[in-house]
Amino acid sequence: MTLSEVRVRIAPSPSGYVHVGTARTAIFNYLFARRHGGKFLVRIENTDKERSDPVFTEAILSALKWLGLQWDEEIVYQSDRIDLYKTHARKLLESGHGYRCFCSPEQLAQDREKARAEKKDMRYNRRCLNLSQAEVEAQVALGSAYTIRLRIPEGETNFDDLVSGELKRKNEDLEDFIVARSDGTATYNLAVVVDDHDMGITHVLRGNDHVTNTFKQIHLYHSFGFELPKFGHMPMILRPDKKKVSKRLGDKDVLAFQREGVLPEAMFNYLCLLGWSPKTDREIYSLEELIDLFTSDNFNPSNAIFDVEKLVAFNQEYIANKPDHELAAMVAPLLVEADLTTKYWLETRWEYLRQVVGALKLRARRIVDFVELSAYFFAFDYQYESDAAAKHFTSENAELLSELTDRFERLQDFTHEALEQTLSALADDKGIKRARLIHPTRLAVSGRSKGPSLYEMLVILSQPVVVERMRRAIEIIKNANSA
Ligand code: GLU
Repeated sequence: MTLSEVRVRIAPSPSGYVHVGTARTAIFNYLFARRHGGKFLVRIENTDKERSDPVFTEAILSALKWLGLQWDEEIVYQSDRIDLYKTHARKLLESGHGYRCFCSPEQLAQDREKARAEKKDMRYNRRCLNLSQAEVEAQVALGSAYTIRLRIPEGETNFDDLVSGELKRKNEDLEDFIVARSDGTATYNLAVVVDDHDMGITHVLRGNDHVTNTFKQIHLYHSFGFELPKFGHMPMILRPDKKKVSKRLGDKDVLAFQREGVLPEAMFNYLCLLGWSPKTDREIYSLEELIDLFTSDNFNPSNAIFDVEKLVAFNQEYIANKPDHELAAMVAPLLVEADLTTKYWLETRWEYLRQVVGALKLRARRIVDFVELSAYFFAFDYQYESDAAAKHFTSENAELLSELTDRFERLQDFTHEALEQTLSALADDKGIKRARLIHPTRLAVSGRSKGPSLYEMLVILSQPVVVERMRRAIEIIKNANSA
């Protein structure tokens, strides 16, 4: 590792799924690494045994993979590093940056109560900092439980944030926080600093809910004599109602968007623009372009709103530009799942599926929409939209449809041009508008009043199917009118 190499990380806690905020932070770190030819690493912060669950680790890694955020080195699990953190906690004691705190939880609860009564923020009152060496030794000899606190010096702490510029905090607001619990295990801030240093992290890019932690962590860096990384705190992602995105409010796992048919490229592109901007009018960018444009000058410190409608608009654009065969591969299992066809049928008619998907892709907002939009291409027992049937399935139109079907049946080449010419010629012969034929034909072959271009649809369905469907519709119209 050279000193100039950029090394960044995403450090999720496996206590829940990846929501859009974490996904966005991961994307920013990934782009930053790629932009600077550096490394993107993953660390799973699973030291909190009560709240961590391997199920979430799996879900987090799947979400990162879905978004294409391939990490560059082995995943670091904090649970494998407990001893390393303990050693560092001891080092703090030895160097005098840390001190033992023998205050019992009851005593601290009383302090907290007192602070509340006085309407003050609870800050540890340094009771144990003032113990004499002899008092400390006596307590240790007695085997009294203790935590280790970091001694925060007087003064003020500041750093130059990559997103918000200079940030400052009075040290008295930080308090002598606990770095090791009474069972010897490290707290979050200690573990993060040990890991970030050990992993050679050069830039810590994370949500601005971690700003207070950063001030605390800076004191740990100083205490250990570690070089400080650069810090950048991303603005929060808010819901349209301006509340912070959170699991509690039902904001979902990013993989739920996958299940609903959002393409990872669309999600990636949309999330990039929440808190960062390439400062152009364009919104849609390829991954290569984003890597090229992604510099820390363009972070935006104001909170960003996550708008599902906007995401879906991006998705629609990405679907429209995705090659048909790739879409077909995504749609195929959904059609099977919806019982519209079988895997075997599709395997032998892949070209048909590819054409269907190609004809419908400008209409799909999500991948799952293809199921509804394409149902009649696979199922023959579709219903006719009743309003449209009342309007277009008249006995007069049945006669017209019947003649059109005869002419369609006689066609040698069942092509877009031939079909269009045939339909126009009949309209001319009868002195009627083409729409008189187009609407009932569309309804007859698809059951719907809207869809892709009629001729494209007829070609895909093929001559025998079109003729069969038109004759069936004529039959139904006649029966209905004679009844
Ligand atoms: N584990 C922390 C979280 O999930 C991230 C800590 C960090 O990025 O430093 O919020």
